[in-house]
Amino acid sequence: MTTIRQEDFIQSVRNALQYISYYHPIDFVRAMHAAYKKERSAAARDAIAQILVNSRMCAEGHRPICQDTGIVTVFLDIGMGVRWESSLSVEEMINEAVRRAYLDPDNPLRASIVADPAGKRSNTGDNTPAVTHMRVVPGERVSITVAAKGGGSENKSRFTILNPSDDLVQWVVEQVPTMGAGWCPPGILGIGIGGTAEKAMLLAKQSLMAPVDIQALQERGPANRIEELRLEIYARVNALGIGAQGLGGLTTVLDVKILDYPTHAASLPVAIVPNCAATRHIHLELDGSGPVFPEPPTLSEWPVLDWHPAGQSRRVNLDNLDSAAVQQWKPGETLLLSGRLLTGRDAAHKRIVDSLERDGRLPEGLDFRNRFIYYVGPVDPVRGEAVGPAGPTTATRMDKFTDTLLEKTGLIGMIGKAERGPTGIEAIRRHRAVYLIATGGAAYLVSRAIRSAHVVAYPELGMEAVYEFEVVDMPVTVAVDSSGESVHRSGPELWKNRIAGIPVADK
Ligand code: SF4
Repeated sequence: MTTIRQEDFIQSVRNALQYISYYHPIDFVRAMHAAYKKERSAAARDAIAQILVNSRMCAEGHRPICQDTGIVTVFLDIGMGVRWESSLSVEEMINEAVRRAYLDPDNPLRASIVADPAGKRSNTGDNTPAVTHMRVVPGERVSITVAAKGGGSENKSRFTILNPSDDLVQWVVEQVPTMGAGWCPPGILGIGIGGTAEKAMLLAKQSLMAPVDIQALQERGPANRIEELRLEIYARVNALGIGAQGLGGLTTVLDVKILDYPTHAASLPVAIVPNCAATRHIHLELDGSGPVFPEPPTLSEWPVLDWHPAGQSRRVNLDNLDSAAVQQWKPGETLLLSGRLLTGRDAAHKRIVDSLERDGRLPEGLDFRNRFIYYVGPVDPVRGEAVGPAGPTTATRMDKFTDTLLEKTGLIGMIGKAERGPTGIEAIRRHRAVYLIATGGAAYLVSRAIRSAHVVAYPELGMEAVYEFEVVDMPVTVAVDSSGESVHRSGPELWKNRIAGIPVADK
């Protein structure tokens, strides 16, 4: 009989959460580096370079890989021979670990969880509760897999129940373009096949906890049907040409993971859960001997890349811009922004639009004339930072507000991540504005360009407040120009055709 003490368990999960906030799994870093070396699309290669540079900076600086530090998901296998020495339930211990990890004064993580999801959506303040899945298994150990999953990729999950005779691969391949780039590719597709509706979703999530190993599978060849499916889906999804950040390129997925389970003779449940550029998970084993402190990886595991955006990018002074100037920019062009910009995401947009519709006024001190808005909810700063990791959030969520902001505030452009939807693009075209993207999953790198930050409106919204940032050389790419031309449409189209022309041996 093994005894697991409350404090050992809490500390171990807390340590794991801090660890994964700044260390990518090494297998993921290697796979990303391999994708970088292989990539022929300049825009996608630049985005992957930023993800890798960011990853190394986070490993060095012990700061979060992404501003979205995720919803905590824990898989527990509890040995039947384990005795707990605890006054808390297992879920209460996990939530205490989440609280301690996310409120750590040296590396605070962003609290992203809201209670009353269909009502007030009030932030719980400490990122609790986690989502916990437990099994009781033979043995005397507690096996824990801890993951932190970003909202952008979780939002792109898919589920269906196919007819048993339907083409499963075709369904998966058709889903990926509909997921857009909000899941911050390149990443991993987790696929669950079989069971029931909820079992397939759980399998898809759980499949993502295994290391990236598609290259080894390619080399040794498939040994069963699931491995054949992995290889086929991997090849066909990458042939779509979506590429890093949806900019068009060779690598959309670094791996495809599949778990299956027996199912009803009438059903073929299939679930997809993508994991993003901020893939974060770790496995721990507790044997009663005390808390686990995961071994830090050596920095030599990260490539040192020669990434210098200055040579190839247009320098832009944000303090001296007008609508005519931004109309010169073309899709795919890279820019380095310096000067002042405003921030705002879902909650601030809703308030701004409500306020404009109510009396046509903005809060005191908030002036969008000839300004850009950056869709971001940053991590709190520490150790002299102006702001913590501050990467972009998915822009499509702001589409329904865009026309009003462009029409009524004098705003001339927006910065976010991933594609715009038809409503957003039409608003941009109609007002001759522009939409720029920063690299999702490169949040710490982006935050290094932010030299000062202060709240301008809605301080009660916390990370969703409107800030003014002063930035120096913030790297962005023009995604939608003032005519409504989108790089997320043209890039994948171009690369899909190019990939079709590349010999199989070179892919
Ligand atoms: S990399 Fe993208 S999808 Fe992943 S957590 Fe960050 S912003 Fe969200």
